[in-house]
Amino acid sequence: MKYQKVLIKFSGEAFGQKGKAVEPAKVLEIVEEIRQLLKQKVRVAVVTGGGNVSRWKDVKKGGRTMVDRKGMQGTLKNVGALEKFLKIRKAPVQVYTSFSVRSKYPHFNQRAAAKDFLKNKVLIFAGGTGHPFFTTDTAAVLRALEIGAQIYIKATKVSGIFSADPFKNAGAKKIKSISHQNYVSRNLKVVDPVAVCLAWENQLPIGVIKWQPGNAVKAALGKAAGSIIK
Ligand code: UDP
Repeated sequence: MKYQKVLIKFSGEAFGQKGKAVEPAKVLEIVEEIRQLLKQKVRVAVVTGGGNVSRWKDVKKGGRTMVDRKGMQGTLKNVGALEKFLKIRKAPVQVYTSFSVRSKYPHFNQRAAAKDFLKNKVLIFAGGTGHPFFTTDTAAVLRALEIGAQIYIKATKVSGIFSADPFKNAGAKKIKSISHQNYVSRNLKVVDPVAVCLAWENQLPIGVIKWQPGNAVKAALGKAAGSIIK
């Protein structure tokens, strides 16, 4: 394995369709992927998106802070499902949240999380950074740095970084490898540039892969068909 300590972000869509319930079959695919990584002695931490759950998109009602709060709360549903299925499949797991969730999960604690990571527990970080105006990409890079992960792997619906949105622009070209600096200066869109700046400052590589079973394992091997910012 090229990377033995990884943080993977699975976007909300990996858990279910927008506005629909979390789909157990999809969660199980993620769980199996994590188990494959554990079998190959890779330590795994996870950040989940919440785009599938959060329906509150009306910025006029409640403002951006309200939209973002609902978004962060939305990540909890996916986290709960992932934790449940990891436990069913007997994987050691520890959830931390960025805001207090009454008596269910501990608030994030860097030292405790780094220790749990050393003990090969699957870490799940819920609730993004806990602050509005940020993204789960930024939460992922921040937590990756705090626990000493070697790469942030973004598992999403596109197969890498493109010169333009590939869903809207047929001529969009895939960029296999790019520096953090060039990513930011070219104003590319797949990964939040705030997260890329934080990763740049700390020399953390970011992989972007299309989420499908087998691809996260390939990314840990350094053989994924996606893109890399390094
Ligand atoms: N969010 C936030 N602060 C954070 C992380 C997330 O406010 O630190 C909110 C933001 O509104 C975001 C939503 O939570 O849109 C859900 O995350 P994301 O959009 O990354 O989910 P995905 O689209 O990947 O499912």
